[in-house]
Amino acid sequence: MRIILLGPPGSGKGTQSSFIVKRYKIPKISTGDILRTTIKGHTKELKNPIKELMKQGKLINDNIVCSLIKCRILQKDCQKGFLLDGFPRNLYQASILKQENINIDYIFELSVSQENILKRIIGRLIHIPSGRTYHSKLKPPIKPGLDDVTGDLLTVRNDDSYNVLKTRLKEYKEITKPLIKYYIKKSKENKIKYFKIDGNKEIHHISNQLEKILNNHINNI
Ligand code: AMP
Repeated sequence: MRIILLGPPGSGKGTQSSFIVKRYKIPKISTGDILRTTIKGHTKELKNPIKELMKQGKLINDNIVCSLIKCRILQKDCQKGFLLDGFPRNLYQASILKQENINIDYIFELSVSQENILKRIIGRLIHIPSGRTYHSKLKPPIKPGLDDVTGDLLTVRNDDSYNVLKTRLKEYKEITKPLIKYYIKKSKENKIKYFKIDGNKEIHHISNQLEKILNNHINNI
């Protein structure tokens, strides 16, 4: 089962991917998570330009991101499937998947209102090593400021500010959104299954909807 979650920042990709990977025991591959971990331990030369772009809410060079993804997908745990969160981010990245014969079964587009995006991003907390996300009001951790699983300190992403969010949403609209048309076309050619999901609904409601679709897939194997 190979899945792509598409949607703007704050659409719930992180939350729903955590549900899917736990439920179906497939790895989550989040380019954002990989990049955040990479810049933590990397040399200065590579670290600074990536860190700077991420801080500004701009996309990272395609070659860097695509090679990270290609390496990750080759790992053994991806043999039975995987979930991509944050990749592809543009048509070129999607073309790399095709070129590498990495066929995808499902595209889930999470659509969400601007109002909810803002509510969810401002106040969001992250556990960087795992990518687990929380929200101080909407999804608080059991102990304030600490990750539920490890007890590590949670942090606020430095791109989760109002100003950077504006850039990220612009990047999404101009660069990533064309992927929706691309995948809808592919679904009409029966090459992929595409579902648009209302990301404004409650977390459990969306998870149930995804589960229904994916169970159907498993029953048909
Ligand atoms: P995310 O965690 O998905 O919100 O991504 C955080 C940041 O990582 C983005 O704003 C980009 O700077 C970078 N990033 C993540 N995925 C990609 C990608 N597929 N292509 C380029 N940049 C990416």
